[in-house]
Amino acid sequence: MRIKYYGARGSLPTPGKSTVKYGGNTTCLSIQADQRQYIVDGGSGLRVLGNDLMLKEFRQGKGETVFFWTHFHWDHIMGFPFFMPNFIAGNKIIHYGSSRVRDILVRQQDFATFPVTFEQMPSTHEFHAIEKQPVIALDGMTVTYCPSNHPAGGYIFKFSHQGRSLIFATDTEHPEAGMDKDLLQLSSGADVLIYDAQYTPEEYGQGRKGWGHSTWEKGVELARAAGVKRLHLFHHDQLHGDAFLEKKVLAPARRMFGHAFLAREGWEFQL
Ligand SMILES: [Zn+2]
Ligand SMILES: [Zn+2]
Repeated sequence: MRIKYYGARGSLPTPGKSTVKYGGNTTCLSIQADQRQYIVDGGSGLRVLGNDLMLKEFRQGKGETVFFWTHFHWDHIMGFPFFMPNFIAGNKIIHYGSSRVRDILVRQQDFATFPVTFEQMPSTHEFHAIEKQPVIALDGMTVTYCPSNHPAGGYIFKFSHQGRSLIFATDTEHPEAGMDKDLLQLSSGADVLIYDAQYTPEEYGQGRKGWGHSTWEKGVELARAAGVKRLHLFHHDQLHGDAFLEKKVLAPARRMFGHAFLAREGWEFQL
């Protein structure tokens, strides 16, 4: 698997001097495997990924990509109307997520909120509801999932390919006591765990309980318990600039777990 972050920010895009290093675009991940293009979520980072794909067969309307949608908060869908491959006839876009994916994408492109409606886009779209499909197999890629603990719900995905595995666990809040058992099981022995670290433990304790997000500390606990090799702290809060992330998120996480990293927009790695 070849993985690239196109957006690692949570909640809202945050352009500006203080976010240059880790990036201001919201959630979007590219995974390439078996010559296939997978995309996890369509936050504002999706616009840039779409432009990259337009350098390839998508410009000629011969592209195919598979989306996996965790949930539908704005920061995870707002890039979709700006995804250029949508506007080229012949491109095929396949969607996996809850049964509401199509409805939500159509609503986002209501004429009152965006000038081109979903139906007016010339690309073709295929929808697969995963509720009754515990395992999704596409060529050499296997995708399994568990529910996230988040307002209005969502999914945590596990991507497995050629003996390597990646967990995408964003927009999820740790339980009050212990650990999310489903997530612990899903993450067991994973190569990379991407985890929601929106808040510091101090911030979380100051009125953010129930908001559907977690902390770097809970990420470290989970990474250790599940025996994952690397932990990527993700979904950076809109108030956390680069310096804050390194000092208040990465540094304490590293002290407890040597293989902790901050997810960074533009970071590409092989698994
Ligand atoms: Zn989010
Ligand atoms: Zn969310």
